[in-house]
Amino acid sequence: MKIPFVDLKAQYRAIQTEIDAALRDILENTAFIEGPRLEAFEKDFAAFCRAPHCAGVGSGTDALYLALKALGVGPGDEVITVSHTYIATAEAISFAGATPVFVDIEPDTMLMDARLLDAAMTPRTKALLPVHLYGQLADMDAVLAVAQKHGLHVLEDCAQAHAAELGGRRSPIARVAAFSFYPGKNLGAYGDAGGVVTHDPAIHKDITEVRNHGRERHAKYEHARLGFGFRMDTLQAAILRAKLPHLEAWTEKRRAHARHYTERLKGVLETPVERPGRRHVYHVYPARTERPAALRTHLEAAGISTNCHYPIPVHLQPAYAALGLKRGALPVTEACVARLLSLPMYPDLTADQVDFVCDTILAFFGRKG
Ligand SMILES: *Cc1c(COP(=O)(O)O)cnc(C)c1O
Repeated sequence: MKIPFVDLKAQYRAIQTEIDAALRDILENTAFIEGPRLEAFEKDFAAFCRAPHCAGVGSGTDALYLALKALGVGPGDEVITVSHTYIATAEAISFAGATPVFVDIEPDTMLMDARLLDAAMTPRTKALLPVHLYGQLADMDAVLAVAQKHGLHVLEDCAQAHAAELGGRRSPIARVAAFSFYPGKNLGAYGDAGGVVTHDPAIHKDITEVRNHGRERHAKYEHARLGFGFRMDTLQAAILRAKLPHLEAWTEKRRAHARHYTERLKGVLETPVERPGRRHVYHVYPARTERPAALRTHLEAAGISTNCHYPIPVHLQPAYAALGLKRGALPVTEACVARLLSLPMYPDLTADQVDFVCDTILAFFGRKG
C-alpha cells in the first residue's frame, strides 16, 4: 500500500467544485490584489480564531516578521524563542534586526519550557516567541506570566496550530499570533500565504499599511510611511475562504488518526504527549524511537513515506554559526531531534492506511498487532 506523507490531491478532489467556483469568481472579476474578497477571508479567519482582526500577508514568515516589527522589535533587541522549530521563526527575528535567544523545550511536549525563560532574560530582552509546534499550544499561561512580570511582548508562532486550543481558548491568547497557510499546513493555500491575527487594532492597522507599501488602506497613491510588498494574493484568499468551513472536520479527522496511532503504537514508539485541557491539532504526528533511521528505511520499503521535524535544530544550523552556540547548548532539544520520526498525517488518511502503518511498525519491532 502506497502512503504518502501528505496527500493534497485527495483534499482537492473532495472539495473541487467549491475551489473551482472560488477561483473562477476571482478570474472573472480580475481582482487579484486586495479588495473585498481578501477582506472576506480576513473577517472569516479572525472569527474562526475568535479575535477581531486578521491581516492576510504573503507567507507565515512575513506574518512573523511584520508582527515583530509592529511590536517595535528591532536592532539591539533580543527575542526569546525555541531552537526546536522551523528556521523561519528565528529568521523573522534576525530580519527584524534583533537577535534570537533560544531556550530548551519540555522533554514530553517538545514545546518551549517556560521555566527556563527567567534565566534567559537580559536587559535587552524585548519579546517572547513561543512556537505551537506540531499543533499543540505551548504553556501560554506560564509564558504570559513571565511576560507580564518583565514587561515583554508575546508573539505566538501558530504556523502549525490552526484551531488548537488551551482551556477552550484559541490563539491569539497573547496580543498577536502569526499563521502560515503554506500548502501542507492544516489550512493550506495553493501557494504561499500567511496571516497576522490580533486583538490590537493598532497592530492590525500597522500591518495592513506595511504590507502594502505604507499605504493607508483606501488611499491609492499616497504613502504616509515606508512599507514593502508583503500582500496575500486574492486568489489564495479565495481558496482559503473556500477551505475554511471544512477546517473543523479536517481537524477532528487528524485527531482521530492520532488517537488511532497512539492506541496501537504506545509502548512500541514514544507517542506524542497531549496535555490535559489542550486541543492538539496534529499538524504533525511526531513519534520518537531509538532507531528512527532504520525504521524509516523499513517503512519506505513498504511504500510508507515518513519525515523528521526537524533534524537539525536552529542553533546548530550553519546559517546561525555566528551565534557561537555549540552542540550541548540545548541538551533536551538535541536529544529529542535525534529520535524523531513523523508518521503520515492528513485528514484524508483512511483507518486502513493508519492500520497498515501501525502493522508495518509493529512488524519492525517484532510485535504482533
Ligand atoms: C511553516 C512554518 C513557518 C513559515 O511559514 P511559511 O508560510 O512557510 O513562511 C514558520 N514557523 C513554523 C513553525 C512553521 O511550521
